[in-house]
Amino acid sequence: MSFGSVAIIGLGLLGGSVGLALKEHLPQVATTGFDADPATRARAAERGLVGTVCESAAQAVADADLVILCVPVGAMAAAARDIAGSLKAGAVVSDVGSSKQFVAEALAAALPGVAIIPAHPVAGTERSGPDAGFASLFHNRWCIITPPEGANEAQVEALSALWQALGAKVEIMDARHHDMVLAVTSHLPHLIAYTIVGTASDLEGVTESEVIKYSAGGFRDFTRIAASDPTMWRDVFLSNKDAVLDMLQRFTEDLTALQRAIRVGDGQQLFDHFTRTRAIRRSIIEEGQDDARPDFGRSDHG
Ligand code: NAP
Repeated sequence: MSFGSVAIIGLGLLGGSVGLALKEHLPQVATTGFDADPATRARAAERGLVGTVCESAAQAVADADLVILCVPVGAMAAAARDIAGSLKAGAVVSDVGSSKQFVAEALAAALPGVAIIPAHPVAGTERSGPDAGFASLFHNRWCIITPPEGANEAQVEALSALWQALGAKVEIMDARHHDMVLAVTSHLPHLIAYTIVGTASDLEGVTESEVIKYSAGGFRDFTRIAASDPTMWRDVFLSNKDAVLDMLQRFTEDLTALQRAIRVGDGQQLFDHFTRTRAIRRSIIEEGQDDARPDFGRSDHG
């Protein structure tokens, strides 16, 4: 099976990128879309993020074989309720939310009897809104699909094929495992970035202009992550609470170990630790998940 028509609910960074990628890679697929914000709907129509921008979620999903919810995690239940009575018979409902157990439960409660196959494309930027999306966002990035027990295999395969057509590599995973993996690879790094940027801006002995002036020392790399959408990230932490708190506990213990090494002057421990982390950066580049050039290739752009 394959999907002949796709409805996208939420036309921001993710929804817009899915729409543009479908237009580029699967032009035969009819696309409709809806966003709660009228200004976003108008901009989505101007940019051609989907074939038809509709005035209601119900109208957008009426003829869709696949519905992809691209709203913040905390808005998933409301978005699902809005389409509950309007889905085409046999339609599949998926999403792009960053935490998966919470979303799976919210969608199952709002859409009883509907085929739900949650997914999370691990691709994004710090930008949001209808101007942020671009067609190549998913190229060579992973999309993790978390089918619930008993999901229809043909539907899971059709969803995998769709993401692969958009340029993504697909992995099938249990929702609980997804939430643990993403807690350490994405959610914790965001929490650390939000913390450190806040700490630097609250310092009394160092001025804000000094923090900005000397940011190339490392600080500015955290500011990109800490500029991420506040609504999205509030919802991620509230919805993946247990896994994030677990990873945060481990992180705190490791930080304390490094703190001790500095205090007692254990240079060997620091050196060994930094050698191990440098190797992880090399593996990420070998996997094609980042730019191999020094300073993320930034110095090449002047
Ligand atoms: P975004 O750019 O802010 O877009 C979300 C859009 O959904 C906004 O235009 C929002 O309108 C709209 N919306 C909110 N509630 C709605 C509802 N009930 N019905 C219809 N539209 C609604 O956010 P995004 O970055 O695309 O994130 C969307 C989802 O993708 C989130 O679940 C996030 O966890 C996931 N994700 C994000 C990234 C990333 O890097 N950004 C990566 C992977 C996955 P208002 O602005 O008016 O609320």
